Amino acid sequence: MKYIGAHVSASGGVANAAIRAAEIGATAFALFTKNQRQWRAAPLTSDVIDDFKAACEKYHFSSAQILPHDSYLINLGHPVADALEKSREAFLDEMQRCEQLGLSLLNFHPGSHLMQIPVDDCLARIAESINIVHSQTEGVVAVIENTAGQGSNLGFEFEHLAAIIDGVEDKSRVGVCIDTCHAFAAGYDLRSAEACEKTFADFERIVGFNYLRGMHLNDAKSTFGSRVDRHHSLGEGNIGHDCFRWIMQDNRFDGIPLILETVNPDIWAEEIAWLKAQQTEVAAA
Ligand SMILES: [Zn+2]
Ligand SMILES: [Zn+2]
Repeated sequence: MKYIGAHVSASGGVANAAIRAAEIGATAFALFTKNQRQWRAAPLTSDVIDDFKAACEKYHFSSAQILPHDSYLINLGHPVADALEKSREAFLDEMQRCEQLGLSLLNFHPGSHLMQIPVDDCLARIAESINIVHSQTEGVVAVIENTAGQGSNLGFEFEHLAAIIDGVEDKSRVGVCIDTCHAFAAGYDLRSAEACEKTFADFERIVGFNYLRGMHLNDAKSTFGSRVDRHHSLGEGNIGHDCFRWIMQDNRFDGIPLILETVNPDIWAEEIAWLKAQQTEVAAA
């Protein structure tokens, strides 16, 4: 069973995210549980939590179908001690918000070395950050997203993801989310079924599908290997439709949130319908 949706707005309250997802025919969704561009947010009240849980139940979204995303300000590999501490506190708050909302996954960008520490040191800091937050929370899986490798952002090579996982003590609470635009921009080809086979064979060998807890389905305005992060609507960018059809027909992507972060929310309903339709071609093939 494929869970397909988009990163919807939570404005007006997190319950609205579930409602908006249902409106576009989604069977999965992503959301920010607080403003993604601010450090602080008011704690979730019991009313907000109850409304969210009620909306998820009404529209049949279980925690396995929901992939919350953390704030863009957080850098769990920050080279400077004070700033690292600030990020760890903010990430703990994000995890606790997920716990309160009954969510089981938290998607985040691994971190940046800011040209101040070696790559391996930064990856070790990220793993240590996850361990610290794990020790203070229960149940929520830290889901590391691969990046395009813009600037000094790490996570653009599958080896980076594997190195972070290696440093995490509780392997049952760490996973990865592969963003197709980021992978393509980082130099993993996805332009044909054959290219997808090869890229995900590399993924299986280096990271392992057992760690795959979500996908971001985005076409790319950025070019292959450009290390530039620019999303596009499915089929309109440099990746093209074949990749997304291939994913929909491969059962290794079952049971995890498959989330659109494509640039035109007005066509999300169409994109979701198209993705759903690709699954049924398996029977015909
Ligand atoms: Zn992201
Ligand atoms: Zn993404």
